Amino acid sequence: MDPKHLEEMISYRRKFHQFPEEGWTEFETTYFIVSKLKQMGYETILTGKQIINPQTVMGRDKAKVREAIDRSVKDGVPLDFIESCDGYTGAIAILDTGREGPTTAFRFDIDGLLVMESEDPNHLPVKFGFASKRPGRMHACGHDGHAALGLAIAKWLIQHKKELKGTFKIIFQPAEEGVRGAAAIVGSGILDDVNFIVGSHCGGLAKLGQMALVHGGVLASIKYDISFKGTPSHAGSNPHLGHSALMAACATAMMLVGIPRHGNGVSRVAVGTLHAGEGRNITPVHAKIECEIRGQTEEVLNYLSENVEKIVKGNSVSYDVESKIERAGYSTTLIECPDLLEELRDVGKQIPEVKEIIDLNAPVGGEDFTLMIKRVVEKGGQGALFRWGCNHRGHHKGDFDLQDTESMPMGFEVFTRFAQKKNGV
Ligand SMILES: [Zn+2]
Repeated sequence: MDPKHLEEMISYRRKFHQFPEEGWTEFETTYFIVSKLKQMGYETILTGKQIINPQTVMGRDKAKVREAIDRSVKDGVPLDFIESCDGYTGAIAILDTGREGPTTAFRFDIDGLLVMESEDPNHLPVKFGFASKRPGRMHACGHDGHAALGLAIAKWLIQHKKELKGTFKIIFQPAEEGVRGAAAIVGSGILDDVNFIVGSHCGGLAKLGQMALVHGGVLASIKYDISFKGTPSHAGSNPHLGHSALMAACATAMMLVGIPRHGNGVSRVAVGTLHAGEGRNITPVHAKIECEIRGQTEEVLNYLSENVEKIVKGNSVSYDVESKIERAGYSTTLIECPDLLEELRDVGKQIPEVKEIIDLNAPVGGEDFTLMIKRVVEKGGQGALFRWGCNHRGHHKGDFDLQDTESMPMGFEVFTRFAQKKNGV
């Protein structure tokens, strides 16, 4: 990788790292990405409803979006840009080489997390002065690196346009955390003509110097927001007149984690939060649960989701309260395209930064890129996911780091060499 190009990619990563934005609020990040793409000479950069189907958006908090728009405008994002977003974040750059050839899409996610960054002087972002400037928010999963990688690859593609054929779609996806954003992009139809789609993630089980081919094991998942609405009453004088949303929620939480395991695959049920009640002596009117289920197959996931719905409905009747179940996120299992994985393996073998190629199939984690692969495969194309390794000390933690200068060049090389392999003239 050309040293100047590398330096620029690292500077982008470190810039993103300082200004992490939660899923669906990445307005400053999106503006930065779009501005850079314009500078590079991209003429077709899609945003807002051009790439997002509002009907398939999940887990988007309107109040948080409004707050983020105000903050972004205050921080200098122009109003006409905000308007072009229709309230949605993310962008897709399209490069038409003018020569007949396949349509190849690359996906990069761009959101940060609600994590407090470590202040340890040995933590690289602290040591080199690019730690998060937004306390309680952090790029603790490396999506800052992903976004920077996307920009570096976009620049390489447009610079090498004369040596390439077909079309590229470079996807900067919002709200991967909580598996919320991919379905919104898939729903827009933008992937329907894609022949090949490749996505990557840093780290996971891949250490620095390792490239991992992901064959399967990505669990399908549904995230739920469940709310109960009861009837208030004086807890001392009229307890019999109240209907407790809190008790319905507690019973639901206990029953959810008690759903019997499925015999045909790994399953997970987690109740993450339960907030309820108004005061000590008032029969609780409000309760909200945030929970998730995961399954090794769609069959297992459907089994779990049917149980979630039955339990909520049952408790709503038992406790005489109203209930509402909202899907705040969804991702599916990984469809394996063996030919494309083997092509990525061939690419990896030629890259000096790749010291070892490993194959992953263990049932861990979730990733909404699976929905993009599914759509592309349904339309007759192929998709694959790989990891470029880093020594991260655990994702979603305050001391997460990805050793950008050492790890990111591998990701860059894999994507750009894959582009040459599939779309080279
Ligand atoms: Zn991630």
